[in-house]
Amino acid sequence: MKAFVTGGAGFIGSHLVDKLIDKGYRVTVFDNLSSGEKKYMQHHFDNDDFNFIEGDLLDLELVKKSIKDHDVVFHISANPFVRLGEEQTRLDLEQGPVVTYNILESMRIHGIKKIVFSSSSVVYAETPPIALPETYGPTLPISLYGAGKLGAEGLISAFCGTFDFQTWIYRFANVVGSRGTHGIIVDFIDKLHKNPNELEILGDGKQQKPYLHVSDIVNGILHGFQHSNEQINLFNLGPDSNTTVTHIAEMIVEEMGLSDVEFKYTGGSRGWKGDVPRFQLDAAKIKKLGWKENYTSDEAVRKSIKEVLDEQ
Ligand code: NAD
Repeated sequence: MKAFVTGGAGFIGSHLVDKLIDKGYRVTVFDNLSSGEKKYMQHHFDNDDFNFIEGDLLDLELVKKSIKDHDVVFHISANPFVRLGEEQTRLDLEQGPVVTYNILESMRIHGIKKIVFSSSSVVYAETPPIALPETYGPTLPISLYGAGKLGAEGLISAFCGTFDFQTWIYRFANVVGSRGTHGIIVDFIDKLHKNPNELEILGDGKQQKPYLHVSDIVNGILHGFQHSNEQINLFNLGPDSNTTVTHIAEMIVEEMGLSDVEFKYTGGSRGWKGDVPRFQLDAAKIKKLGWKENYTSDEAVRKSIKEVLDEQ
């Protein structure tokens, strides 16, 4: 099977590419290297089953030309920096619905009907304290990033309804692991390298979220793709457990061998405007198909801290 992977040079995308190549797929990565890196794909460059196109998904003509002759699209690219929407209000519109439209339209022209999409738990936004099932609604995101994800989901669903596409949409919990280009672990480690005596923590540190290791995400993406065959296959992907921000900071301090680090909280219940301080995903639907996380949220965080430190 020939897979077209957008964002395949990034954190999650590059792990997915490793897995696809391992499973015998032929893979084209399409990436503009805005946050991804060539070094994450380096080990595939002399493999005939691997092809890399450096390009921007906003370039519709290039996407049309490049996507031809593939069987399935794994659409993993996005603006990964949730907070950037506060300063650049067009960004999540372009990197969400607009690039998703370019991909869907290019697929339509070339008769490609299967699309796997990396959405996010942010579409649910602020909710009662329950584990959220895929049927939870209304979905009213509070970040522009979340609006971009929901808009992209809507377009994909509309192409299913109008042009008989088939889709696997995954709403991820927070994802951690090696090759992380951003996020809380990378951020705290960077801050502590700069000043090992104190750590600024956004919010009150009580934000509590589920963290899933990237290996579990990649297994989940492929598991759902191989074991479900509805027209629209919508899954939450997250662990049953969660971890507080302060506990992440404590684990990082421990793993870096530091002591007496002063935690300086910026205060307030959320890290920034648009941050959802507490949520839990109900992943029972994909679990019924036989997927299960290998790492609890705390284990995933601890493992990822070690991986990120090893990489440095
Ligand atoms: P990442 O930044 O590491 O990967 C995104 C990749 O897309 C990068 O390689 C980047 O260069 C590429 N890209 C961005 N804009 C592009 C464009 N216009 N044209 C071509 N390439 C482009 O981010 P990630 O953490 O691996 O995220 C992957 C996906 O998972 C994203 O869709 C993200 O929204 C989603 N997601 C991530 C998390 C998480 O915790 N990391 C949680 C929920 C959802």
